[in-house]
Amino acid sequence: MIRENLDLIEERITKACERAGRPRDAVTLICVTKTKPLEMLQEAYDAGQRNFGENKVQEICRKKPELPDDIRWHMIGHLQRNKVRQLMGNTVMIHSVDSIRLAETISAEAEKAGIVMPVLIEVNAANEDSKFGVAPDRAESLIRAVSGLRGIHIEGLMTIAPYTDDPETNRPYFAALRELAVDISQKCIDNVSMNVLSMGMTGDFEVAIEEGATIIRVGTGIFGERIYT
Ligand SMILES: *Cc1c(COP(=O)(O)O)cnc(C)c1O
Repeated sequence: MIRENLDLIEERITKACERAGRPRDAVTLICVTKTKPLEMLQEAYDAGQRNFGENKVQEICRKKPELPDDIRWHMIGHLQRNKVRQLMGNTVMIHSVDSIRLAETISAEAEKAGIVMPVLIEVNAANEDSKFGVAPDRAESLIRAVSGLRGIHIEGLMTIAPYTDDPETNRPYFAALRELAVDISQKCIDNVSMNVLSMGMTGDFEVAIEEGATIIRVGTGIFGERIYT
C-alpha cells in the first residue's frame, strides 16, 4: 500500500512540476513518519525514499539506529532547547528555528559537536495563534540576529500553512513565503542563503510546488491517518 501511495504522490509531484515549468528534481519529498512503526518506514525506504521527517527528538533517536544509515532525518517539529544536544549527528536539517535563543542553543551544541547545522527559519505565514514560527514581518530581523552564529547555516524558510479542505486558500501564504525568501536573499546577509522553501503537506503540496516549494513534507498521503494514543 505504501508503495502504491508513493507512486501516486510521485505522479502528482511530477505533474505539479510540469505545470510550474520546474524540473522534477527541484522538489524533494520528505516522508513524514511521525507515529508510524519501523516496518512502514522500511517499506518507504525499500520503495526508494531516503528523506524522512519526524517532529520529536526522541522518535528520531529511537528509530534512526534501527534503519539503514543512508536515511536523511529531518527535524520538522517544534524543538525544545533541552533536546537540542541529542539531535547532533542525528539530523541533516532542523526546519523549525523560530527564536534567537533556540538558534543560539543549536549553534552552541553544533560547535561542540564540530559541525555546522543546516537550519530553516519557521515562519507563521498566516499569523495563526496556534502555530509556532516567527511572524513574516519579523523574519528578517530574526535572521539578522542569528546569522553570525558559527554553528548554524540558514538555508531558507519553512511554513506550516493552515489546515484546509481547499488547498487554493493556502496559495497566497506559499506565494508570500517565496517572496519573503526572495526579499531576504536580495539583502545578501552573510552566512544566509535562501535556496530552500519547505512548504506543502498532504492537503496542499501541489499548490506549494506551483508556488516554489523545494521541499514538501507528506505524511498522511503516504502512510495513512495518524493514530495518537
Ligand atoms: C505532520 C506534519 C506534516 C505532514 O502532514 P500530513 O498532512 O500528514 O501530510 C508536515 N509537516 C509538519 C511540520 C508536520 O508536523
